[in-house]
Amino acid sequence: MRKLAQNQYFYLLVLVLMLSGIRNAWSAFTIDDEKKVGKEIYEKLDQENYLSHDKKLNAYVSEIGGRILAHSNKASFPYTFTVFNSSAINAFATPGGYVYINKGLISVVETEAQLAGVMAHEIAHANSRHVASIIEKNKKLNIAMLAGIIAGALLGGGGDAAAAAAMFSVAGAATLSLKYQREHEEEADRLGIGYLAQAGYYPAAMVEFLKIMKQYEFLSKTIPSYFLTHPGTDDRIFYLESLLQTEYRRSGGSANIVGNIVRMQALITPDAGDLKKRRGQLTESLAKDPRNVDLLYALAVTEDQLGHTGEALENLKKALSLAPRDEDVLKSAGLIYLKAGDARQARFYLQKASAINPENDQTTLALGKAYFAEGDYAGALNYFLKLQHQTIEGEDINYHIAMSYGRLNQMADSHYYFGLYFKKENKTQSALFHFRKAQELTPAGTPKAAAIAAAMNELSPGKRSKPDSKPPARETAPK
Ligand SMILES: [Zn+2]
Repeated sequence: MRKLAQNQYFYLLVLVLMLSGIRNAWSAFTIDDEKKVGKEIYEKLDQENYLSHDKKLNAYVSEIGGRILAHSNKASFPYTFTVFNSSAINAFATPGGYVYINKGLISVVETEAQLAGVMAHEIAHANSRHVASIIEKNKKLNIAMLAGIIAGALLGGGGDAAAAAAMFSVAGAATLSLKYQREHEEEADRLGIGYLAQAGYYPAAMVEFLKIMKQYEFLSKTIPSYFLTHPGTDDRIFYLESLLQTEYRRSGGSANIVGNIVRMQALITPDAGDLKKRRGQLTESLAKDPRNVDLLYALAVTEDQLGHTGEALENLKKALSLAPRDEDVLKSAGLIYLKAGDARQARFYLQKASAINPENDQTTLALGKAYFAEGDYAGALNYFLKLQHQTIEGEDINYHIAMSYGRLNQMADSHYYFGLYFKKENKTQSALFHFRKAQELTPAGTPKAAAIAAAMNELSPGKRSKPDSKPPARETAPK
């Protein structure tokens, strides 16, 4: 883990060193500089799997971000909101309008408004171009240091704290952490709380978040990484309280607007220890509010993650007795039955979920698998083909399509899709084998024959000549 983090750092460092057109000392750090640095960092983080691709989670934070932006008057960039794969409690805006929200932070907030408050504060930093002003003031801050500092701010804290510290010393930038100045914090809070209230959230959420973090710090005896980049917590609390007592005295506002924070939190898989803790908290909350469908759902997801299938299904059924048409609950029940090998029950729940939302890829894929498991291959194929052009994380739909055609004795199609599957896996020999078989079984001059020929063409030697093996792993960074 530590090595990975160091390599990660190295990539960032090299990357920013190589950025052309940016000078080594800054006279002015322009908006274009910001965009360039921000974009490159984003792409690098994505390549290294630091960015979550959970569509639901990203759509959720993006929608909250969009609401806040609609009420902030001077957004100077097109903003991007991304969920960051880290359990450290942190949120960070890099130059260029890229806002990252760690899974760890989403897990600890109590309301969407608290999350929105953190995001509003980050947006205010970005709108006010605080990072740019730090860079401009530090003439000695070169590109390498800047990269290191940003990497440290993003990766620091939590379980990676040691690695982050090591990373800093590699850069020789140990003393230069990216830390907003107190006046930056005041401005980000003043603007942020305004955005938050305008967006329709209750403004006190902002100070609530800081108090939760302080409590967390007290209990865990580790400083949340958020505090490392955003200093002056006590001052911030006093300042925000003063605004709440004066400017925002009469402000109402909602706790949740875009979605349902408890359900979003259920999408984040915590560590085993945290799972048990979460189960305890949810059980406690449910004791006070036993008919809360969100809590029942979240507890079911947690029990499932702990491997307790029976308990998970029991809670989902309780939830369904209160809300029979709840898509999330129906889908979860279907997925759990499928995993447990009960395809008939799986199909029962998945069909209900699909009737409510036919566009959910996960539900469609699971329905295909359930039909397949029951021996209804035409039914299965019907669902798999719907997903032909979708990307689904960790699954290759071509494989399922090929299997279904095979069972249906449509061998030309089966070979063709196996060809596509192996082609994607970079197993050229296997891909060619299946494409040739498909070719033999397909009448010439048909569109299908043309598709096979085109796919084979892309595999022709010269373009790709690897035998059955994955392409070489990316070069590892020197230690
Ligand atoms: Zn701040």
